[in-house]
Amino acid sequence: MAPWKKTTRKWARGMPERASRRVSDVAIGVDLGGTGIRLARVTADGCVLGRTVVVPVVDRRKAVVLGQLRRAVVEACSGSDVVGAVGVGVPGFIRRDRGVVVRSPNFPDWRNVPIRQILQRDVVVPLVIENDANAAALGEDWIGAGQGGRGILVMVTLGTGVGGGLVNDGMLITGRDGMAGEIGHQTVDPNGPLCACGNTGCLETYASLTGLVANYRRWTGRSEDELSGVELAARARRGDPEARRAFADMGWALGVTLANLVNLLNPSRIVLGGGLSGAWPLFISRAMQEIERRAIRAAARGVRIRRAKLGPSAGLIGAARAAWQAATGTENTSAVPRPWRRVRSTMRAAG
Ligand SMILES: [Zn+2]
Repeated sequence: MAPWKKTTRKWARGMPERASRRVSDVAIGVDLGGTGIRLARVTADGCVLGRTVVVPVVDRRKAVVLGQLRRAVVEACSGSDVVGAVGVGVPGFIRRDRGVVVRSPNFPDWRNVPIRQILQRDVVVPLVIENDANAAALGEDWIGAGQGGRGILVMVTLGTGVGGGLVNDGMLITGRDGMAGEIGHQTVDPNGPLCACGNTGCLETYASLTGLVANYRRWTGRSEDELSGVELAARARRGDPEARRAFADMGWALGVTLANLVNLLNPSRIVLGGGLSGAWPLFISRAMQEIERRAIRAAARGVRIRRAKLGPSAGLIGAARAAWQAATGTENTSAVPRPWRRVRSTMRAAG
């Protein structure tokens, strides 16, 4: 049976005829990245319908990207499905309650961009803006590496930067401004390298591609124009001592941070994703060593540490989950904009 039939049948079953109209078939999950916008239709039980649409981002200027995003979202909403909500994952610091992107490392000219307000001109259903790593955490918790677990899931995305997200019993831990879970900017060494955030010795300065490459170049004195994570990992596998050291430091910094998080949060699951998680064998044993050395044993024993499962789709699947939660009033935050409360009551009245 096609997954969408399951959803529509569920709505129709046992309802009086007038109310048998579907409230919605799908949420649109969107992942806005530095190189592309990915969109897919996701049902309320986490089935991704059809293909993921990918719109390449070549020109990163604000007006261009926002124009592309608006067109892509409108297009996604105009299909034959009844769209209940839209969720957009965006890299950077997000004011979730206001739907504002405060700053984004991928889009340097973005400052306090009211992205929800801009998109909401064309979209009438609830629209939620979420940090991309928070969205990935929601996705992995829902149908990925954390599926079926209860309690706290810690997600760390190891990519160009280091992102983080915290989920408790299916709900994001957002903090007051929606900025909780910035795991990449936990201090590992107060005297460590300068981080883009202004602090020194953040996890990101060791465990992101940017950090790995900077450390590697500092030690080798080489300054190639481009050095990808795949290439750096290949050098480490071939025995390049500085490349091996960079990944060992990554494991050390990650282990120190995760040990702190184990002691702070007593999580049931830790999920490591992002492009650099592909270099798993080069850093994971060092990270595990640090966790064993530093975390409270009883808390560390119960935690399941896994590689992420959903790959580049985690963000859009999680953004769709956030959208479903917003549309049905089940998200765990007081920071819900007022207009949505009206939309919800209309939806309830219709259903
Ligand atoms: Zn930092």
